[in-house]
Amino acid sequence: MRELLDLTPAELREHLVSMGEPPYRARQVFEWAWKHLVRDFSAMTNLPVSLREQLSREFVIGAATPGATLMDAEEGTEKVLLTLRDGEAIETVLMREDDRRTVCISTQVGCPIGCAFCATGRTGFRRDLSPGEIALQVLFFAAKLKAEGQRVTHVVLMGMGEPFLNYDATLKAIRNLNHPWGLNLGARRFTVSTVGIVPGILRLAEEGLQLNLAISLHAPWDDLRAELVPAARKYPIADVLAAAEEYVRATKRRVTYEYVLLSGVNDSPAAARALAGLLRGRLAHVNLIPFNPAPGLPFKRPPLRRVEAFKRELLRRGIDVTVRYSRGVRIQAGCGQLRAARLGATSG
Ligand code: SAH
Ligand code: SF4
Repeated sequence: MRELLDLTPAELREHLVSMGEPPYRARQVFEWAWKHLVRDFSAMTNLPVSLREQLSREFVIGAATPGATLMDAEEGTEKVLLTLRDGEAIETVLMREDDRRTVCISTQVGCPIGCAFCATGRTGFRRDLSPGEIALQVLFFAAKLKAEGQRVTHVVLMGMGEPFLNYDATLKAIRNLNHPWGLNLGARRFTVSTVGIVPGILRLAEEGLQLNLAISLHAPWDDLRAELVPAARKYPIADVLAAAEEYVRATKRRVTYEYVLLSGVNDSPAAARALAGLLRGRLAHVNLIPFNPAPGLPFKRPPLRRVEAFKRELLRRGIDVTVRYSRGVRIQAGCGQLRAARLGATSG
């Protein structure tokens, strides 16, 4: 069985035409799946019954089994573990904040990069997600919100995995979520977070999409960065920044630099000054993320005054900065943590 959500509108049209159907059926089927969030062909009432039966023999729609959702009502965070058809599991988080409804999605099962401070990185890499598997995470919460008369307003690709190591599937999912026949989520409502895969940044600049780009920098010096982010050996900071400039030039979008603050590792005033030096004069914004502890990770969150001092050093040098305390800490909604916890529970 194939996953219907893996297909673009053009691919769907081609397939339906090959079945002897008129081209306009593509829009009908796509709208049922992506706009009305239907999961069963039998509900597609404007299609002939025979076609519904034929399609249901060939396709599944958004096939994933949700486990229990973990909720932090006070924070407005909700997390679900979705089990895919091959038994692999991914995590997806919904964050409710004022009038925003942001879904944080995964692009891979695990992650091959292996950042020292990341629970996902520590558990290794299993496989890439397909376009449909990436998108179904958004549709899962879209359906849930719809029942409450609400909708998904933003999508961040900050769950498990490195989006630019699964580039084609990621872009296909974003384009389908962006499509006017479906959720019609504007490109500016997506944020793609990358650890700094230079070819991916350059390719994204050519897509003609106004997506927000976030780059996980974590250090102003190459040697320190290489200790924290193994992939950094291949892509020096200067190359990452040059690629980011290219993205700014092509899209006119401000780039966000993410910086996980690790106590005694990368949180010194000297590091802040060096970071400010790198970003001065760029269309940039810094997101400081005080380390979110998880079992087995050998780091500590810096004390508040240290976080504030780092922030002040940046502000003083004219760099825009916000401190983002990871949400969902109480429901283990930090990057990769739910799955890591479950793996721990099953192996221990
Ligand atoms: N692979 C991509 C996107 C997923 S990670 C990337 O690295 O950018 C999303 C963000 O969560 C990254 O900025 C990452 O550095 C951060 N992160 C990972 N582990 C964390 C932890 N333990 N505490 C705080 N932030 C963490
Ligand atoms: Fe992968 Fe991002 Fe985690 Fe690094 S921080 S291991 S790139 S998911």
